[in-house]
Amino acid sequence: MSKPVPTTICLACNRAIPSQEYARNSVICHFCAMLSPNEVAILAVRTHESLNRYLQQSVTGRKDAKRSAKLAQLELTGKRCTHCHARKAPAEFNKCAPMADGLQPGCRSCNRVQYTILRNTPAGGLKQWHIFRDALRAQNDPK
Ligand SMILES: [Zn+2]
Ligand SMILES: [Zn+2]
Repeated sequence: MSKPVPTTICLACNRAIPSQEYARNSVICHFCAMLSPNEVAILAVRTHESLNRYLQQSVTGRKDAKRSAKLAQLELTGKRCTHCHARKAPAEFNKCAPMADGLQPGCRSCNRVQYTILRNTPAGGLKQWHIFRDALRAQNDPK
């Protein structure tokens, strides 16, 4: 069996090149060494841009994976509405991209009631809504 050839990542083109093909103490490969310093600089910037794009994508990918895992769990357990405290299917919640599970904390039906009460009761609407909400909570909270 032949030994694997040691490679070094070229700092300009970002390719893994056999270490023996580098000039002594050089951080760029023999191909990049033939370019002008200006071309090497441009290449290095491009390499790092695509590297950053790749890293950005993988962060987004990890977030998406976390979110779908969370949603799959909520499909089983239900998500607790912060208003009425009932456990409901994720489909009962409107979307909210910045949240960890991609859903709003309150269920759609609570949103609707809250909106209607606040809209139709300009004075003291918030108090009305809290009374209604507390009644729902009393129903849904474990005794
Ligand atoms: Zn190179
Ligand atoms: Zn609710």
